[in-house]
Amino acid sequence: MAKTDVKAPAKVEKAPSETGKASAAAKAEITVAEKLVELFRLQHLDSQVDRIKVQRGELPLEVQDLEDEVAGLETRLKKLQDELGEVETQVSDKQNLIKDAKAQIKKYEGQQAKVRNNREYDSLTKEIEFQNLEIQLAEKRIKEAKAQIDGKKSVVEESKTRHDERKKDLDIKKKELNDIIAETEKEEKDLQKKSDVASKHIEERLLSAYHRIRSNSRNGLAVVAVERGSCGGCFNAIPPQRQLDISSHKKIIVCEHCGRILVDDYVVERVKGGK
Ligand SMILES: [Zn+2]
Repeated sequence: MAKTDVKAPAKVEKAPSETGKASAAAKAEITVAEKLVELFRLQHLDSQVDRIKVQRGELPLEVQDLEDEVAGLETRLKKLQDELGEVETQVSDKQNLIKDAKAQIKKYEGQQAKVRNNREYDSLTKEIEFQNLEIQLAEKRIKEAKAQIDGKKSVVEESKTRHDERKKDLDIKKKELNDIIAETEKEEKDLQKKSDVASKHIEERLLSAYHRIRSNSRNGLAVVAVERGSCGGCFNAIPPQRQLDISSHKKIIVCEHCGRILVDDYVVERVKGGK
């Protein structure tokens, strides 16, 4: 009843019609407070649903990022293994070349035993020398290639280890995220049910205003608390008289700047304190 001391709200439209009966005014006072509590309760539930939707929207992206990373590692591993295969082929080619050269040498040496003059003999000696040089060169190349193979093998091992680790991470993360999605879906459904119940306690006209304001605001807020003398939606200052009007719960007051419905600490505490 202390509120009757607040002289100022001459602007309040509802007041004249209700001043007739003191009891009716008192009843209206409670009703507006209750309306605000129900509106803020609905907002509180819907905001939680909004938050879950945003969070869940980001989860598949996280999995996608990991999947991309694992796919990238797989491509890299495949490339490294191909390179390794190429060098190994080079080695076996050179080994075949050595085998052929040795066979040639054997053949030339056989021919040397049967030659009839020095010129033929020298010519075969030159061929043998050439084949020996070929063998030396091939051996040098094999040595180089083997060093390359050792290097590449350790890179392949590292990449394989890294890939396997990331793949394991991905599988764990995937499962985790699927669990979270399932869990948040359940949470969302529960909240949505509560929201449906809460909206049944609100008269049609107010409910449609709530939905209209909510759909026009980027953060989905239609009912906001007064925070340190400012609107909790647009953060513009609220004149002291208007703040008094809000806390008197005589009528529903909206922010002059953003049009959101304003509630005071009493209403916030009723909803968040679970009363
Ligand atoms: Zn505002």
